[in-house]
Amino acid sequence: MENKKPYDYLIVGAGLFGATVAYRARQAGKRCLVVDRRSHIGGNVWQQDMAGIAVHTYGPHIFHTANREVWDFVSRFVTMNHFINSPLANYNGKLYNLPFNMNTFRQMWGITSPDAARRIIDEQRARTVTALHGREPKNLEEQALCLVGRDIYQTLIKGYTEKQWGRPCTELPAFIIRRLPVRFTYDNNYFNDPYQGIPEEGYNTLIDKLLEGCDIRLGVDYIPGRAELDALADKIVYSGSIDEFFDFQLGHLEYRTVRFDTQILDMPDFQHNAVVNYTSPTQLHTRIIEHKHFTCFGKEVMRNPQTVISYEYSVEWKKGMEPFYPLNNQRNQSLYERYTELAKTTPNVLFGGRLAEYKYYDMDKVIEKAMQLPL
Ligand code: UDP
Repeated sequence: MENKKPYDYLIVGAGLFGATVAYRARQAGKRCLVVDRRSHIGGNVWQQDMAGIAVHTYGPHIFHTANREVWDFVSRFVTMNHFINSPLANYNGKLYNLPFNMNTFRQMWGITSPDAARRIIDEQRARTVTALHGREPKNLEEQALCLVGRDIYQTLIKGYTEKQWGRPCTELPAFIIRRLPVRFTYDNNYFNDPYQGIPEEGYNTLIDKLLEGCDIRLGVDYIPGRAELDALADKIVYSGSIDEFFDFQLGHLEYRTVRFDTQILDMPDFQHNAVVNYTSPTQLHTRIIEHKHFTCFGKEVMRNPQTVISYEYSVEWKKGMEPFYPLNNQRNQSLYERYTELAKTTPNVLFGGRLAEYKYYDMDKVIEKAMQLPL
């Protein structure tokens, strides 16, 4: 039978997942329509120019991966710079290096040898380890105490985590804190991955190139318009929230979102680093981002007399907001599993990405998943 539909694929969501899938489909000669409810492409990696500085509109996006194939894929479209994420933590005015490494331990305890650091951590974690009786830590607090002990947990983890997730650490899954390295060397690189950087041309260029040859409709909300849109394509790739796709019929999944207070300042350098986390519960923001530091290094920083900073505030997601982080606790995880059962009843829809898979993915994982999607 002759195919009468104008597109092979309707791709819902013009973020990193949708754009990578669209690129693969185009390479295979498929006709793609990409829709997004926002007025721009790129989802949360989209950037805006302010005072000549590329601003990460939806929070800092630092590309890092251990997957050479993913790195090479991205490098086909943009040139990655040599940015290495080395955030600082500010606890009531005192600065600490992150992730947890010998610099942090020296700042915390005045010690300089790994043996001395291990001794203090072992002493501080002993009580928690004994109480576990050999079982795995069942929440973030137990996990953090086992990894780095009481002092670091109280100073650098508890306040930040509870602000970011809006829940006590005892009610959060342990895996969240396992994202962070713990090192007994003086190494402030936040990631263990061998490849890391920020696109020199910006993320918008990456997305533009991935979407080349696709028809794009922005400001189009798929959910209310689905009947009409579904009729345009044989297959649908959906990267929005999975519970919304099914009209929340099994209940709402929970998300956290982020509010940004972004300011242009008449000074060349505000905090001398791209990311400073505020780990005390008394300061309401979770971190301050100074965007020029992602792409300007050394003397270049002073060339622009202005700088752009964003205060980040973590907020519980409510209808009408952009969902940022899935909240992978037990309740949400089992609800998500039930949605995946429902998804089996819609075989012409492929689900993927941070929201559709309800996973705390980094950008490289999103691309990896999009590369593996059976088209
Ligand atoms: N975290 C923390 N203190 C910090 C930074 C991170 O306790 O200064 C914890 C926090 O629970 C957070 C988790 O580590 O949710 C993972 O942090 P990551 O930087 O990977 O989060 P991202 O911003 O990349 O989502």
